[in-house]
Amino acid sequence: MVNALYSARPETSLGRHFNEPAPTYRSEYQRDRDRIIHSTAFRRLEYKTQVFVNHEGDLYRTRLTHSLEVAQIARSIARTLRLDEDLTEAIALAHDLGHTPFGHAGQDALNGCMKPYGGFEHNLQSLRIVDLLERNYADFNGLNLTYETREGILKHCSLKHAAELGDVGKRFLDKKQPSLEAQLTNVADQVAYNNHDIDDGIRSGLVSIEQMRQVDLFSMQYDKVMWKYPELTGHRCVHETIRRMIGEQVVDLVETSRIRLKEAKPQSIEDVRNHHEQLISFSDDMYTRNQTLKKFLRENLYYHHKVYRMTRKAHQVIEALFSAFMEDIRLLPPEHQNLSRNALLENGETGQARIIADYVAGMTDRYATMEYARLFGIEGNVF
Ligand code: MG
Repeated sequence: MVNALYSARPETSLGRHFNEPAPTYRSEYQRDRDRIIHSTAFRRLEYKTQVFVNHEGDLYRTRLTHSLEVAQIARSIARTLRLDEDLTEAIALAHDLGHTPFGHAGQDALNGCMKPYGGFEHNLQSLRIVDLLERNYADFNGLNLTYETREGILKHCSLKHAAELGDVGKRFLDKKQPSLEAQLTNVADQVAYNNHDIDDGIRSGLVSIEQMRQVDLFSMQYDKVMWKYPELTGHRCVHETIRRMIGEQVVDLVETSRIRLKEAKPQSIEDVRNHHEQLISFSDDMYTRNQTLKKFLRENLYYHHKVYRMTRKAHQVIEALFSAFMEDIRLLPPEHQNLSRNALLENGETGQARIIADYVAGMTDRYATMEYARLFGIEGNVF
């Protein structure tokens, strides 16, 4: 099936910073997707987590499996709405590249350390990785991705940062929308994490099925599963419920977005960008039910005292590493020492702090834990 007029089309792409010959047997967005898969930051996602620290169990989601789930959900919707699947996949696989070790706890801690130096934000860091920090190509730093993939990676951004970011920052200043592929991947991210966090939450024993039944999105599908399979228990029952929840949300998203596209009649990606609001969205009812689920997960899982204990330790590790490197850059590997010295000459302490933040953010959970143990002479498991 041919992609719709309102999709992002490789031939009308706003292009790459560094001009390159067109790929031979791939589209520009396929090349972006492929470069992301071959990047160093992508491989690190395997050992980074969101809610649970990497060593807590082999069955929990990592950033890598999360990104694959986002790509799966987003691609299937992209195909239905006749959007560009390759661009959608590229954005999904890259969207979490900038995450620190230890999930949101790590991000908060590093942001705290970076407060005097402009802060740290994982979304901006994802862009910084693909624009600058990957150092694998002879002709350029970063991955030299197309504008559309970079636009999708930068989901949100303060106006202050937008003004500093050039091309991809401009839409925030002009109050324009990103491509439909970017809008879609953003919602697919939420569908993926809300649902897999329920699965991981129940698996860990931190939340129970009984608790989950307070949430309408869960209980409606759970009741259907129980009606059809009254004997079903345990993980099969949870999985059957969650797959129906994802299905219900995807159908709502597709149908609502179809209606909105029909009303707005965008004839090109430019029309999509100029539209006064996003065209890919849940119905109002599904949006509200999703907010209820998010609130439940926040109160019962992300702020669970066992998760909080991990959060505290993550803060301790990140803050200790950052301060140690700031105090004595000779603790850094030689390559980062050089980068840090140059940054100090160019931008003073702020420049140096940014190089150290890049280094710390790039660590996996286990590398950060090991580095902490090595630097501070701590025996045994920190977590
Ligand atoms: Mg994500």
